Amino acid sequence: MTEALLTEIRAALRGPVLTREPMSRHTTWRIGGPADLFLCPADRDDLRLALGLLRREKIPWQVIGKGSNLLVADGGIRGAVIELSSLARLDFSAAPMVRAEAGVRLMSLIRESCRRGLGGLEQMAGIPGTLGGAVVMNAGAGFQYIGRLVRTLVLAGADGEEHWTAEQVRFAYRTTSLPADRVVVAAELKLVPADAEGLQEEIRQRLLLRRRSQGVGRPNAGSVFKNPPGQQAWKLIDRAGLRGAVVGGAQVSERHSNFIVNNGGASAADVIDLMAQIQDRVYRQSGIALEPEVRIAGEV
Ligand SMILES: Cc1cc2nc3c(=O)[nH]c(=O)nc-3n(C[C@H](O)[C@H](O)[C@H](O)COP(=O)(O)OP(=O)(O)OC[C@H]3O[C@@H](n4cnc5c(N)ncnc54)[C@H](O)[C@@H]3O)c2cc1C
Repeated sequence: MTEALLTEIRAALRGPVLTREPMSRHTTWRIGGPADLFLCPADRDDLRLALGLLRREKIPWQVIGKGSNLLVADGGIRGAVIELSSLARLDFSAAPMVRAEAGVRLMSLIRESCRRGLGGLEQMAGIPGTLGGAVVMNAGAGFQYIGRLVRTLVLAGADGEEHWTAEQVRFAYRTTSLPADRVVVAAELKLVPADAEGLQEEIRQRLLLRRRSQGVGRPNAGSVFKNPPGQQAWKLIDRAGLRGAVVGGAQVSERHSNFIVNNGGASAADVIDLMAQIQDRVYRQSGIALEPEVRIAGEV
């Protein structure tokens, strides 16, 4: 990218524009090489301008939430990464419908909804991502998943914003049919009136449960593999004798064998190697092909 183009982008956008930004600063695994361009639009207008410029210059882009389900390769990301933490508006004026922008932290949305006596999200307490990431991943826990609550979505592309209804999207286990060339900008969720005290107690219980089962004490990205139908990935990994297995700085957690932790200095290559070993050993042991839940981005 030329200096002139960078100057133009910086002049056009109000939010920060960074170059060679280490993605290890933006992923919960604390792993990932640099993104050529890292854009933090100040608001939806800024996002529209950014997408227009990126299209004009044919620069590929991708969005990041809290990077809690993301492995960025060591070579980093060619093109732009768009970070949406400034899109953080939350509107309860039409309760039990809630309108939230994509950069809102899921945990803030859960706490605020429950405080107002609006249920539907409380079992997801402890999921560390943003609302946008949760919608794209169809995040869920217990008997709840976000796709069930979504009524409408605002998506942005290079031609501006579009309004979609939930019926236009297929929400499945940790995936959706949302197109990769759109940014989830906002969502409208239909929550359910319930007792505020009860909901807040449920949050406390869920967080306690997570600390007990997932308190792995090191940077991680949650469950690495999806649970195959009728199976639990952690049990298959355990049975294959891989609890505690190490590649470089990456290790299968001793506490939760579907988590891979960064013991310090782990590279994305370490994690990818360990994931491949897990898939291979589990397949040979049980005949089941584990499918990654984490998304892998960037250049190896
Ligand atoms: C300790 C721990 C526990 C976890 N527990 C759970 C759990 O119980 N259940 C569960 O479902 N997940 C869990 N996760 C995984 C993760 O938190 C969720 O998948 C979360 O929804 C990801 O949100 P994010 O904002 O971090 O997304 P990111 O990881 O930043 O991104 C995930 C994907 O979504 C895309 N994306 C993000 N935001 C947008 C947007 N606005 N528009 C378009 N695309 C976007 C990214 O490009 C990427 O492909 C856990 C993770 C950790 C670290």
